[in-house]
Amino acid sequence: MNVFVLNCGSSSVKFQIINTDLDMFENDSDHRVAKGLIERVGKDDAIIRLEAEGQEAVKAVEPIHDHREAILRIKKWMEDPNTKIQGIHSWDDIQAIGHRVVHGGEKFTKSVKIDKDVLSEIEECSDLAPLHNPANLKGIQACYEIFGDKILQVAVFDTAFHSTMPEEAYMYAIPLEYYEKYKVRRYGFHGTSHRYVAYRYRKLVKIPREEVNVITLHLGNGCSAAAIQKGKSINTTMGLTPLEGLVMGTRSGDIDPAIIEYLFNKGIGSVAEIFNILNKKSGLMGVSGISNDMRDLEKAAAEGHHRAQLALKIFALRVKKYIGAYMAEMNGVNAIIFTAGIGENSVLIRKMVCEGLENLGLELDDELNKQAVGGKCLKISKEGSRVAVWVIPTNEELLLARDTVRVVKDAPRRW
Ligand code: AMP
Repeated sequence: MNVFVLNCGSSSVKFQIINTDLDMFENDSDHRVAKGLIERVGKDDAIIRLEAEGQEAVKAVEPIHDHREAILRIKKWMEDPNTKIQGIHSWDDIQAIGHRVVHGGEKFTKSVKIDKDVLSEIEECSDLAPLHNPANLKGIQACYEIFGDKILQVAVFDTAFHSTMPEEAYMYAIPLEYYEKYKVRRYGFHGTSHRYVAYRYRKLVKIPREEVNVITLHLGNGCSAAAIQKGKSINTTMGLTPLEGLVMGTRSGDIDPAIIEYLFNKGIGSVAEIFNILNKKSGLMGVSGISNDMRDLEKAAAEGHHRAQLALKIFALRVKKYIGAYMAEMNGVNAIIFTAGIGENSVLIRKMVCEGLENLGLELDDELNKQAVGGKCLKISKEGSRVAVWVIPTNEELLLARDTVRVVKDAPRRW
């Protein structure tokens, strides 16, 4: 099957076309045949980049006024005789669409076929993820408008993998009626990524799902950790929204909630403005004052920039804190897995995080750590380290495509 995997942001449309099917999962023969990104959707100078595997990318700047126009632009490119996508000549060669949907609330614990009811339920979850779900919905609606019921659409939720958390992990210690009335609880995000790397780990070390006891660290522009016991998520750092937990590019992660009132009383701004600061001007950016990009900060820190050095230390300490917490929660783990932009590339952050955890059974091999960059999948702990440390590149799109196939073919989700 050819699956069109779609990830719509408020002003961006990202896609991949993946050739996959049930019989291809086991030997990993499923593969991407095209990918692309349209940024600045809604503007006259949208940035377009479309790439068939093995071909030079098509780049353009054109007016793209909404998500529908963006998808139509991709369709036009796909059907252009000059575009050579393996196995694809027109939209008729696409069998299904898999949408990334950020928030599935309590309702969606696995990927589902999209119909009118599902659409309105996703809409209801928008309240919980106002920055993300409306954009995901725009993508779904645009596909409906363009393709009607001719093509099956599937929603894959970021929150779904964490639906196995026990009550004590997902409930906040606030009056219980806020959960009952307003569904205030921990949901967790990046579920597709945590699930993918845990699955990949299981395949690499050849163990059954029930024996997977790991901590997965998704460290990208957004960051979260997950405690995975017997193959199931039992805790994660992001909460009701993706603001809680680890320090991120521009998000603060955990803070004392009293800071909000304190800053409000100091006249920093309205509650909404303070939340904007916590979401967009904090984290690595806020502490360093120079960048939210780890590469810039590593460079500046090496040149002696104090705030950059401090940002790195706060970032690493927070990750370390959750490793300790989750090791305690799981009574030890088999492995710690680093993934996403920082996790897959930053030798320094991995070293800072793992340093001083030897008594907990975690010994990093500095040489192997240095080798694990640029998308390499590698075990980076010393031979004999009680807890293994792995770098496993994430591939959320592949899991989205596979889930889409499973839903379309009504096959059970094995992982
Ligand atoms: P992601 O959200 O997974 O795409 O991760 C993006 C982030 O990964 C960037 O903002 C950088 O902070 C970080 N990153 C990417 N490449 C490197 C690298 N070579 N070294 C350190 N950090 C990197």
